[in-house]
Amino acid sequence: MPSIARVALDTPLSRLFDYRLPDSSRPLPAGTLVEVPFGRSRQVGVVLDCVDDSPVADDKLKALLRVLDDRPPVAPDILKLARFCADYYHHPLGAILAAALPPRLRAATPFQADTPWLVPTAAGLHAEPSPRARGQRALLDALKSGPLAREALRANQQMRHAATVVAAGWATWTRAVPAQDAPPATAGPRLTADQVVALDAIRPAFDRFSVHLVHGVTGSGKTELYLHMIAERLLAGRQSLVLIPEIALTPQLEGHFRTRFPGRRIIALHSGLSEKERAENWLAAPDCDVLLGTRLAVFTPLPRLGLIVVDEEHDGSYKQQDGLRYSARDVAIARGKQAGVPVVLGSATPSLESYSQALAGRYQLHTLAARAHPEARLPDIELADLRHLPQDNGLTRLAVHALADTLARGEQSLVFLNRRGYAPALYCPSCAWVAPCPHCSARLVLHRRAHRLRCHHCGFGMPIPQTCPSCGNPDLKPLGHGTQKLEETLGALLPQARIRRIDRDTMLPRAWAALGEAVHAREVDILVGTQMLAKGHDFPDMTFALILDTDGALYSPDFRATERLFAQLMQVAGRAGRADKPGRVLIQTAFPDHPLFRYLQRHDYAGYARELLAERRRLDLPPFTRQVLLRAEATTMDAALAFLQRAAANVPATPGVAVFTPTPAPMPRIANLERAQLLVQSPSRQALQTFVRDWRPRLEAHKPRVARWSLDIDPLVF
Ligand code: ADP
Ligand code: ZN
Ligand code: ZN
Repeated sequence: MPSIARVALDTPLSRLFDYRLPDSSRPLPAGTLVEVPFGRSRQVGVVLDCVDDSPVADDKLKALLRVLDDRPPVAPDILKLARFCADYYHHPLGAILAAALPPRLRAATPFQADTPWLVPTAAGLHAEPSPRARGQRALLDALKSGPLAREALRANQQMRHAATVVAAGWATWTRAVPAQDAPPATAGPRLTADQVVALDAIRPAFDRFSVHLVHGVTGSGKTELYLHMIAERLLAGRQSLVLIPEIALTPQLEGHFRTRFPGRRIIALHSGLSEKERAENWLAAPDCDVLLGTRLAVFTPLPRLGLIVVDEEHDGSYKQQDGLRYSARDVAIARGKQAGVPVVLGSATPSLESYSQALAGRYQLHTLAARAHPEARLPDIELADLRHLPQDNGLTRLAVHALADTLARGEQSLVFLNRRGYAPALYCPSCAWVAPCPHCSARLVLHRRAHRLRCHHCGFGMPIPQTCPSCGNPDLKPLGHGTQKLEETLGALLPQARIRRIDRDTMLPRAWAALGEAVHAREVDILVGTQMLAKGHDFPDMTFALILDTDGALYSPDFRATERLFAQLMQVAGRAGRADKPGRVLIQTAFPDHPLFRYLQRHDYAGYARELLAERRRLDLPPFTRQVLLRAEATTMDAALAFLQRAAANVPATPGVAVFTPTPAPMPRIANLERAQLLVQSPSRQALQTFVRDWRPRLEAHKPRVARWSLDIDPLVF
């Protein structure tokens, strides 16, 4: 009988660790969570296999401490997906499993999930709560037509009423999954011709792997199309996994799904949940109907998976920027392949990676050309030439007039400025000193309301200095404009307007939902914000969008900057005039002749994508080549570069793989660490994979004491 467990642990080493099973133990199924001694401490790991022999000498072999049988083993689909990631991202399997599991389930302390179902008691079926207790009445009414799941009660903010009703003896919590027939999905709008064509094309592929790219302008009904597909999969008893980029959008979409699929089990997973909720939702996922979540949700066990949707597939937040640097979109595609189910990518502005796959015929392209509301038209896009127009605090007269007109018509405006804080720098007019972050090669951003300077890279903060530390000048000035200053300027120019600002500083899911309500209730005239504005939310009376200060991206050294800017501008423009009111977009720029604007004005994603792709092909850039970035961090730049130089000197000879010269990173210093990078690229994904497989052990063998390093496969940000 096998007596040794091979365990994956969260370490930087790509190997498994052997432990003796307790004498009495039967072999443990793969996926079992166990606690083991590791070095001088203990760790929770995942058993991958039980074997007879270990290469470790008998007297060196330690015994595992405990089987964590209060939680189920990691499901086979997740083990399989983790193996794919280990292989593709060249990352230790144990570290991947640790990242995939909710933190609470990785902790050795006992875990008891709350009972998931609320069912009425006999008394509850005839209970008559006081007419004034409306919440309790609504809850009891809902219970009469079937049990309610804890996550639905949480989502509907009914937990308080649940507690009262249980205390009254009218309902009780139970663990058993009740047998019930879910009522049919509520009817949505009749599909448009484009939606029908797309659905009919995807349906025959429901039971095999295929990738579909739904390219549809904002408001063209992509979400509606997903809902129809999900409904059809539900009827076949299959689960759907829906990934969205932004945690702030989950409550909104979750509510939408709950209304459409009453009685179905819809579970959300994102990092905004408490650890306990996240663990409970993960454990409940195998029984759910729809799993909705941000990138981490791609690693949730779903035994009856029948469809994967990746909404806004172009969004950079699908890519994790530390640890396992995975792209949830790409992992979703791998998962679809493993499970033999279709993967539907949706976007108004697909990534060039996905779009080129579609043009090459490897993904099926489905186009929703028009907005779903027949009256809704795409907005007119105008440019305000900053070279010729006078400005007041960064705003042209044209822009101010347009805002005033919109206000006078009683409609809403949106002002987009991708720079949070008050001003991007604090500056001394007498000696040209600019406040630097002491830990990064970055300037400190002025946050006037908080009376602080803050670093947006390392989080460092300090009070605003009274005088210039360099020359003593007491008259320091803000340099440039951030959203806070913009809010102030607009308030002065349009004192009667009700202005609200949103950005990452203010945006938690609850605040975001409240903002949506305030906008719908017409309590806001002008919404000022950063790129958060480009995501989600349907604001029907938002008829004017003003876009400021995007010129930096037009001539950025980052080759993806124009692709990202175009997507952002299309998305922001898509917020203007969605219903029956025509929208208008004004962009302030000093480069009105840039080709990006020509395509934008024609709403021509495909045209600009083709132009960008031609350029990428000419320059041998992704998606025509694949890239891997070796990053190094050290206390000195010399040490970081020296590590990379050794790494570059010790590469496997692989034809078709180009190894570039080590260079300092574009942001050479963050949080007191100097950063350098080494780019490797190849037109062949296969060749690059073979190369890295051979290279990584050599890097591990270096054992550099001075530098930390990591591999970034398919890097998005340099
Ligand atoms: P997208 O996800 O592409 O932005 P949505 O699916 O959210 O688009 O649809 C945008 C708006 O159009 C929503 O208000 C939605 O209810 C409506 N809509 C979608 N499909 C249809 C349809 N077939 N008929 C009428 N309205 C529709
Ligand atoms: Zn000075
Ligand atoms: Zn900093």
